[in-house]
Amino acid sequence: MNLSSIAIAAFLSSLSSATADTVLGERSTSEDRGIAALKLRGAQEKTAAGSGIEKGRQLKKKQKDACGPETENSCVATTNVRSPSTLVSCLNGTSSFMDTNVTIIEYPEGTTNPFHVNREVYKLTFPQVDITKFTDANFNAGIGGPRFPAGIFYAESQEEVIMAVNCARDAGYKVSPRGRGHSFQGLGSMDGYLVIDLSLMCVPDNFTNTTQNDDHPWLLGGEQKVIGTIKSGSGCTNAVMLAYTAKHFPDDGIYLVGSCPSVGITGYATGGGQGDTTPWVGLGIDDVLSYDIVLYDGTPVTASETEHSDLYWALRGGGSGFGVITSLTTAVVNTPKPLELEPSSSSSSRFTYVAQLYKQTQNEAKKFLERFQDFLVPNLPFDSKKYKDKIRNSSARFGGDGEFSTKENENLGFTGIFLGSKDEAISTFEKAGLRDPEIFKESESVEIEFSSYADVQLFKICLQLTTSPTSSFWQSEWVSATNNVCEDLGIDPKYCHKTFVYGQNDWEAYVPNCDPNQASFNLEDVKNVILPAIKAASIKPQSWFNRPGSQRRAQLVPELAPFTEQSLPGGLLFGRLDPDVLLDLANVGVDIFHFAHGAPTVVARDETGYSNREEYILLSLGGAGVDEMEKYEEVASILINKAYGGDSTKLRG
Ligand SMILES: Cc1cc2nc3c(=O)[nH]c(=O)nc-3n(C[C@H](O)[C@H](O)[C@H](O)COP(=O)(O)OP(=O)(O)OC[C@H]3O[C@@H](n4cnc5c(N)ncnc54)[C@H](O)[C@@H]3O)c2cc1C
Repeated sequence: MNLSSIAIAAFLSSLSSATADTVLGERSTSEDRGIAALKLRGAQEKTAAGSGIEKGRQLKKKQKDACGPETENSCVATTNVRSPSTLVSCLNGTSSFMDTNVTIIEYPEGTTNPFHVNREVYKLTFPQVDITKFTDANFNAGIGGPRFPAGIFYAESQEEVIMAVNCARDAGYKVSPRGRGHSFQGLGSMDGYLVIDLSLMCVPDNFTNTTQNDDHPWLLGGEQKVIGTIKSGSGCTNAVMLAYTAKHFPDDGIYLVGSCPSVGITGYATGGGQGDTTPWVGLGIDDVLSYDIVLYDGTPVTASETEHSDLYWALRGGGSGFGVITSLTTAVVNTPKPLELEPSSSSSSRFTYVAQLYKQTQNEAKKFLERFQDFLVPNLPFDSKKYKDKIRNSSARFGGDGEFSTKENENLGFTGIFLGSKDEAISTFEKAGLRDPEIFKESESVEIEFSSYADVQLFKICLQLTTSPTSSFWQSEWVSATNNVCEDLGIDPKYCHKTFVYGQNDWEAYVPNCDPNQASFNLEDVKNVILPAIKAASIKPQSWFNRPGSQRRAQLVPELAPFTEQSLPGGLLFGRLDPDVLLDLANVGVDIFHFAHGAPTVVARDETGYSNREEYILLSLGGAGVDEMEKYEEVASILINKAYGGDSTKLRG
């Protein structure tokens, strides 16, 4: 057990992040989730006659009426008869998109490596009409296995999205908007639907920015400011936005991203969105100021606080069932000012990577769980003002993953980003009793300071890449043709080392020296060579760094579907729990990750379509298989009986 292994678990925890996708069940479609969000709000506002929810219902009904019978799961198709030829000829219009290639430039231009061939895809692939024009295998595999959409259309403008929605509706097809294909359930590539892929609509040169200094409507207020906005295409990734923000808001701008570079931002911006800076900047949905969306009747609208405000409410947490989002305007939030320390901090750095790993005994685990939860969330009513004040004064600067397991050699501790110097981080954890010798005496900790938000976040990504040598990680995250990440990044081999990737078949790989536990680690090399190379790969929307790996690819035709590992079967979300209950859960043999917390929890439950403000712990089953699934029964029973007084409706899964 060391600080590298905690980073692996931190990555796994990110795999299990809870968005509306997971919360409402594996097979729920985005449409289901949208309706669920409206229902939820309906339940919360039962008495509010003529309220926003009524308008929301009308909006849904109007879309249903425009699109087809009530029994249809989606409101796109106007006929139950699907006509492939009608759809394809409508989409083709005057030019044949089935003959048009789009080049996806994944690797550095001018590369001499024969494996680094940039991909050509047809702009429209529709095997039922022409199986020979079938080069694109980049379809998302859901966790239950591959998905088989009817076809895929790469949209490059809002006009093309409108055309695709209208053509699909008239030909009897439902549409699946797809960002970057990371939905655990494969919701971006639904079986039999027309996928409208938005990834080519991420063009950083076309983004627009503003700078300002306003209060953030959804956060704690006071110190937190919106210092700018970015209007970007909807098909962008975490890594693109991170690199773009670093370029345009270099001093202290934070744009919320999660822990994996190739995850799409629109899934975040509609399903929830947790990242390391969430306690300070909010959930992904809290930071979106407006959405440009093509409704399923083909109408383009902008949804914001002032325009189509019901739709804006529902999009923030209700999932993607309302139309195809073409662009988003998102807040860039400031970094907190230094804490006043006595003696004052020796460093002015505002960004520190932290990892604390504890020696594990049941007794110490219990104390850790008590103190860590106290640090993250007050033991006070969620809606009280005191709750907000406590959060403001304590943990909003720290975000990351707490995790524990009672299995031998597994982790107890946390990793994450502290928005302040190393001294500020240590002082904060000391005050919270988290460095008390009673529990910390045989423990390890690492604190590494960085001068920018992008650097600390990219360092975490590099650490995952270096210390997570599992095939499922590589296959889900990157399109690395040679398994030589250093070559893909254009880094001199002297900054890299050999490692083994474990999985179905083990293989050798070369990774940058980002692991502080390795003798080859040199912080100056990380800052001056490795991170700039990662930033350069990040800003290119089609680069390998922004494309999911083979595990997330499936074919259109079942016979050609590759083997896909069933990765994580799901998870449960819950709020503050008695440490004994948490230990009971861990003793079942499941892993508990993701103690997300902080500022976003002060947004009232009905302020957005997101229903999980109070639930801040995510439990996931670490592996696949029936045995693991059976553990759910035991876990559910512990929660219902020991935490929820027998009320099973309180389970969130
Ligand atoms: C490896 C990995 C790591 C992750 N890490 C985190 C994390 O740290 N924090 C976190 O909060 N979540 C995390 N997630 C979950 C992730 O945020 C969601 O699965 C997200 O929905 C993925 O978005 P996507 O665009 O990549 O996926 P897609 O499969 O393309 O889309 C996801 C959903 O959004 C819809 N959608 C996408 N684009 C649009 C659009 N333009 N208009 C309308 N609807 C659209 C799709 O229809 C689908 O329902 C992770 C997932 C994976 C696989």
